[in-house]
Amino acid sequence: MIDVIAFDADDTLWENETLYSRIQDQFQELLSPYMEPEQVRRKLYETEMSHLPLLGYGIKAFVLSMITTAIEISGGEISGREIQKILDFGFVMLAHNVRLLDQVEHVLEILAQELPLMLITKGDLLDQEGKLARSGIAHYFQSVEIVSDKTPESYAAILKRSGVPPERFLMVGNSMRSDILPVLELGGKAVYIPHALTWEHEHAPLEPERPGLFQLDHISQLPELVGIIKNGLS
Ligand SMILES: [Mg+2]
Repeated sequence: MIDVIAFDADDTLWENETLYSRIQDQFQELLSPYMEPEQVRRKLYETEMSHLPLLGYGIKAFVLSMITTAIEISGGEISGREIQKILDFGFVMLAHNVRLLDQVEHVLEILAQELPLMLITKGDLLDQEGKLARSGIAHYFQSVEIVSDKTPESYAAILKRSGVPPERFLMVGNSMRSDILPVLELGGKAVYIPHALTWEHEHAPLEPERPGLFQLDHISQLPELVGIIKNGLS
């Protein structure tokens, strides 16, 4: 049995990584006079990883990482005009339309009639709140949790607050690292729905035989799986 179904948002309910990837291409192009695009990409990723403990996830952290990388790669020669372009990348991202993934609204509509739905997303508070408001699907969720990172501890705190025992909690998401492994570690259930484009930081080895882990190709298959789990057949 399950008491609540929780969803990740970015690349589970709406497109996110495609936007980062597109902006990253433009950033590589901007820095092409200084360094090969592939090396720029590597350098940016290293900077993002080193910033993570202090800046966390989200667009503002991404912009600061791009600026830091640009200064380093250019040996301090990057111009104010080019820094402005990087800032503009960030503003474009912050105002970007939220594009729901195929069938998402239909699936939420079905499942919201059966169980309470929760949204658990990580990143910048204001940005994630804005995306949820623009998405048009906020009304399907009984609760929304925006956390700075998705760890077993942060999930445990959410479950405790909501009074949901881990074994009756089902999490749905595209990131093995953030949505699946921490929930399984707590004894919960998790549905992994990979997205074609996922940030390399979110990758983790797939563990197909792990109890409580389910994998789907598409979110449209979720209501059927939830039916099976609810009836205790899995
Ligand atoms: Mg995600």
